[in-house]
Amino acid sequence: MHTPSKSSKKRLKLALLLSAIAAIALIFRLVHLQIISSNELRKGALEQWTKSIDIKSKRGVIYDRKGKKLAVSVNAFTVWATPAEIENPKETSKELSIILDMEEEEIYEKITKQERVEKLKQWITRDEANELRAQNFKGISIVDDNKRYYPNGNFASYILGFTDIDNNGLDGVEKTYDEYLTGVSGKWIKMTDASNRQLPYDGEQVHDPKDGRSIMLTIDETLQYFAEKAAQQALVDNKAKNVSIVMMDPSTGDILAMAAKPDFDPNNPREPLDPKQKEEWKNLPTEELTDKWYDLWRNFAISDVYEPGSTFKVITAAAALEEGTTSSDSHYYCNGTIKVQGETLKCANWYNPHKDQSLREAMNNSCNVAFVNIGRELGQENIYKYIKGFGFGEKTNIDLLGEQPGIIPSSADAIKELSLATMSYGHGIAVTPIQLLSAVSAISNGGNLMKPRLVKEMINDEGDIEKSFEPEVIRKVLSKETSDTMLSLMETVVSDGSGSRAQVPGYKIGGKTGTAQKIIDGRYAQGKYIGSFLAVAPTDEPRIAMLVIVDEPSGQFYGGSTAAPVAQSIFEEIFNYLEIAPEIDEDSEEEIIDIVKVPDIRGKSIGEVGKILKDLDLQYTTEYIEITDETKIIDQFPQPGVEVQQGSIIDLYIDMQPIDKVNMPFLRGKEKAEVIKILDEMNLQYSLNGQGKAQSQDPLPGQEIKPDTKIVVEFE
Ligand SMILES: [Zn+2]
Repeated sequence: MHTPSKSSKKRLKLALLLSAIAAIALIFRLVHLQIISSNELRKGALEQWTKSIDIKSKRGVIYDRKGKKLAVSVNAFTVWATPAEIENPKETSKELSIILDMEEEEIYEKITKQERVEKLKQWITRDEANELRAQNFKGISIVDDNKRYYPNGNFASYILGFTDIDNNGLDGVEKTYDEYLTGVSGKWIKMTDASNRQLPYDGEQVHDPKDGRSIMLTIDETLQYFAEKAAQQALVDNKAKNVSIVMMDPSTGDILAMAAKPDFDPNNPREPLDPKQKEEWKNLPTEELTDKWYDLWRNFAISDVYEPGSTFKVITAAAALEEGTTSSDSHYYCNGTIKVQGETLKCANWYNPHKDQSLREAMNNSCNVAFVNIGRELGQENIYKYIKGFGFGEKTNIDLLGEQPGIIPSSADAIKELSLATMSYGHGIAVTPIQLLSAVSAISNGGNLMKPRLVKEMINDEGDIEKSFEPEVIRKVLSKETSDTMLSLMETVVSDGSGSRAQVPGYKIGGKTGTAQKIIDGRYAQGKYIGSFLAVAPTDEPRIAMLVIVDEPSGQFYGGSTAAPVAQSIFEEIFNYLEIAPEIDEDSEEEIIDIVKVPDIRGKSIGEVGKILKDLDLQYTTEYIEITDETKIIDQFPQPGVEVQQGSIIDLYIDMQPIDKVNMPFLRGKEKAEVIKILDEMNLQYSLNGQGKAQSQDPLPGQEIKPDTKIVVEFE
């Protein structure tokens, strides 16, 4: 995943700049009207001035797909002063300060300004407005105004976005549909004489504003609620940095839910919701604070790119099935490792090789070696064709700001043997969550890549549908046959494979787990992972495609243990809400299978564990590539003593520390201080002999070292 998306920042900054320019333009226009044009007006028979105050139009409503209001405009009132008409500023300030809860001096300063009109306070309550009206102060006017209000607080904030104080959309659909939602401002015009007094015979004119039109989103409020609740729970459970959940209707490309935590309240987008963070932000310099805001508003689902890891195996498998380079009958042999261009690529279970693997088993067990072979047979040209075909490397053009295209090879020729191999299991390519979700929707809907749809309809101020957006097929990527095969393969990943923790009894859910190390500033970040789970259900007639991403979980980090259980909890609620009946009759499925007790394997090495589990006819998975024979098991799922069926898969959690390997840096010729800095940053142990510049080093540059490797550097 990449650090803050510069382009979305730029866009937002540009939006802010543009609104500033618009404001300046308006000021120029007012100056022109009030000062420059006045010279001409003065020449007229009537020495009169025209002044006007904008009456804000009401922004349209943002609805969910069932007509629930997600963003509304509420009535508010704004107080204006006409300084020239105020007879006793001192007294007026005093009385106003009580009603408006403002400082007396501040009011005095405003109502004595050499201005035709001056805004005193924006958005006062109805009670305040009533009291002001009752007092009937001379030179004080109340103008009907309105204010954007998000009744559910931080609900769906990344979709809705927010507005500024002048009701201009700044982010989310508020921004992308701003022109439509805004409406046309009205005007309140007063004719006044040269000393700003209202001309008695002319009165005033009010031109009513034209309210904005409304939009109906594809979001389902209930599904969004499930996603938000589950994301918040997963954030806490995993002590993660971020959790993102997106749901799509595979047949239409409709975004049904898009949640990310932590998030913000669009009613107050510049204040973090976490009280601790709020305190921390108080003393930040403006520049730093601005960066924090952009970070907070960045929508992970569209603005962050990450290495998909094993979830990408569904793309490789679908491409290879479609091209006929693999089939359900194909078999692969896994030795645990495979050498490509001098590099040894490993399977998660390399110590206990998968051996003979059918395509289905390779998916279930997430066998990297099998997928390297599937990728090889598919070839550079074809894998590139499908990377492009599924829409990776280009924006999906969802109706939101800040979307990133991801990172893919520049051409088929640019894919070398090694990158073909690693790409086959999802490394060396960067995608956005929305791209991956669109791709799996295509895989499960019969093969059509759909454009993600976020807005269904535009509704005019009379409540009639003004424009409908139809589902849009971008291109056909797969045949129905491949799509069906893929659904069946994904189904057994959940029923029998690494996605078992997404199971909901009685239902057919398809899925694929993924775990990838994060890339920060172009390098793999030690100990930082993204666990993800890609799912589709029910597999007989897919209605929901879902992607759950747990970013930087603490502790367990495998997608199978961090993200799959999140999908499980959401699916349980969805099946109930959408009234999807169970497909599998649990009773008829009962076969005579031996039950075994899960042994306690914690603290043992992976070598021992392999033998113990094999004797009990149990399988295991770790999803992690870099395993050595020293690797110790620190935890397991299910826990010891739990009764499971023979053949069940036990998730192993391994101790990461001893296996973090790095390459020896090049130190020769460097000053001692610099050498110390480099080695300290890498957390290495060393002994340095002599002074001056480094002359020799052991180990040599580029050699693989472990954190406990003792490094010796000789200086001149
Ligand atoms: Zn394997």
